[in-house]
Amino acid sequence: MAKDEWTEDPRRLLMAGPDFDLSSFDRSATPGWSRGKRAAKKAMRSRGKLLSELQERLYAQGRSGGNKRVLVVVQGIDTAGKGGIARHVMAMVDPQGVSLASFGPPTPEEARHHYLWRIRRALPKPGRIGLFDRSHYEDVLVVRVEDLVEEEVWRKRYAEINHFEKGLVDQDTVVIKLALMVSHEEQGMRLMERLDRPDKRWKFSSSDIPTRLKWDAYQEAYADVFRLTSTAHAPWYVLPADNKWYSRLAATEIITRELVEMRVQWPKPRWRPDVQRRRLAETMSPESLARSVAETEEVVLEAIEDSSEVGREAFTLLTEGLDAERRSAVHDALRVKRESFMADLERTIANKRELLAAVDPTLLPPEEHDAPSPDAGNQRAEEQPTEDRPRPDKERKARKPAKDKKAGKGKGKRARKGKKSKN
Ligand code: ATP
Repeated sequence: MAKDEWTEDPRRLLMAGPDFDLSSFDRSATPGWSRGKRAAKKAMRSRGKLLSELQERLYAQGRSGGNKRVLVVVQGIDTAGKGGIARHVMAMVDPQGVSLASFGPPTPEEARHHYLWRIRRALPKPGRIGLFDRSHYEDVLVVRVEDLVEEEVWRKRYAEINHFEKGLVDQDTVVIKLALMVSHEEQGMRLMERLDRPDKRWKFSSSDIPTRLKWDAYQEAYADVFRLTSTAHAPWYVLPADNKWYSRLAATEIITRELVEMRVQWPKPRWRPDVQRRRLAETMSPESLARSVAETEEVVLEAIEDSSEVGREAFTLLTEGLDAERRSAVHDALRVKRESFMADLERTIANKRELLAAVDPTLLPPEEHDAPSPDAGNQRAEEQPTEDRPRPDKERKARKPAKDKKAGKGKGKRARKGKKSKN
């Protein structure tokens, strides 16, 4: 799992601090990752599940009136791989919860407004992850290098951008800024490939070579961006991008870790499940209600297990570097949450049995007496060292037949057979 393979939190390794020096930055390095490309792809897939649940929770809280959101700013020169972040990283989450925006030369209407006007309009709504492919930083990059406005105008923008981003952070937006830094040599190779491959030629623009010729000026402009706008509230993460698999992996990890730290929970519904369940049951035939009763444990347990698996992964990330006491506090919180899910499942089953008993008690499946204990399996797994833990997929497959037998369709069939023999 990815959590075991990063030697260190990539945010610590890649954040542009006061001593950051772009001129000596190794763009082919893979800081924090020594296991190569194949393991990286596998790790990304495994993170996808966590990322996806975190995004869904964020979306759910947004739908329930929460204000939290995430803005991922992706910057980089041509061919650096900005599009790949949108395609490969954001593809792991539900597209409903993501808003993508890219920024080219301002349209005549945009040019009539302040440069932040179009940026404000594209900001993610509550519950969303917004991804900017290029951004307001173009207004201190291309604008500076191409002399599109006077120096005294673009000079003032660094402070203005910091102030703007602080405002976003103060209003519950987590701002994640990723700069993809490719080497001059690698950019040359990628541009040549675009020229060579008929299916990639559309990506080539006649301005690519003139822009490449201004390499040093762009590097200087980027260095100033990192020096002047990597703030405590919205730091820059500078990602070596000669290996696309590395920059995608690092982007995934940074975004996941930021989302974990937001600690977004599933919102509580404003309605009572038992009241709505009764209303729904009234619209169902006794047979389908009986089938639903028989399936409840399997369906809900599987969801709880998935969620606990994600919870364990988040736990590992959240408690990295914490002392034993704080680790144990987070662990307790996870256990309490799981207990509350299991108690909820028990209430659900009891409630549904009551509803079925009221319409046709002969359809009731036999009662479970060996209801799983609240932290069965998972607590044990949390306490085991990671390497000794059974792989979650295998664990679930191994348990599944037992669950099917205990709570699944088998039980429903037994109930129906019982009914026949009684009559
Ligand atoms: P990309 O090069 O990002 O893959 P693309 O080739 O499809 O995208 P567009 O998205 O249309 O091109 O535009 C990107 C270009 O727009 C870049 O050259 C960028 O420098 C330029 N650009 C972005 N913002 C501004 C701005 N505020 N002023 C001038 N030019 C800008």
